[in-house]
Amino acid sequence: MNADYELIVTDLNFKYPNGLTALSGVNFRLSRGEKVAIIGPNGAGKSTLLLALSGLLRKKGLSGTIERGEEREEQAARIGFLFQNPDDQIIGASVEDDVGFILLREGVAPARARLLVAEALEQVRLGGYQSRSPSEMSFGEKKRMSLAGLLVGKPDLIFLDEPALGLDPREIGQLLKILKEMPQTMLLASMDFNLVLELADRVLLLDRGRIVSLGSPADILSDRVLMEKHGLL
Ligand code: ADP
Repeated sequence: MNADYELIVTDLNFKYPNGLTALSGVNFRLSRGEKVAIIGPNGAGKSTLLLALSGLLRKKGLSGTIERGEEREEQAARIGFLFQNPDDQIIGASVEDDVGFILLREGVAPARARLLVAEALEQVRLGGYQSRSPSEMSFGEKKRMSLAGLLVGKPDLIFLDEPALGLDPREIGQLLKILKEMPQTMLLASMDFNLVLELADRVLLLDRGRIVSLGSPADILSDRVLMEKHGLL
């Protein structure tokens, strides 16, 4: 296994309990630090792929192999997942509790946890929000708070499901800056082609559970025939 790779996915297939095949023969590799965007029409399997790679889908129905880089241990602890809807991952009554949740669970001393939370909040432009209640924050603020909650766990690999969805153009610009600054390997499902063009090193076009194209964002997004064929234009 080559240590330059963060993730190697070989012949991944997934079938939901109702018999629907959502992923078929998916093969690709993510290099360390690479940011790859998955695009594809609704129902293509983008969310299913992210969930399958994060170990969030039932093993029954899943086949193929998902390998991590050589020296990566404690696989689950080193993956972060940003859900489409931040309300699905709020666990604390205050921003401080929410963002620091995994630190306290891992036994990090409270003073150190407070410091790490403050750093992560600065990183997502929510400095000083510690005592705020997540229920009284905007959708975009909650998304960035969830991102801070991932960052404190120091993941090497982050999956993001439609990070720009529900954000206004200014918030998308802010998110783009934050994501660009992050050194982590990222795999994101996104229909925001501007974000994809600005952020991704490569684009993976998925349709009906299959990878139909893998290449540079400029090449794929400017291929009118390809984009039209898969309902993206
Ligand atoms: P995308 O994220 O690209 O919109 P999804 O991964 O959500 O696509 O869905 C891929 C396919 O799997 C679709 O046909 C969808 O209807 C189906 N699907 C998604 N979730 C489930 C589920 N829990 N049970 C059965 N089928 C599902």
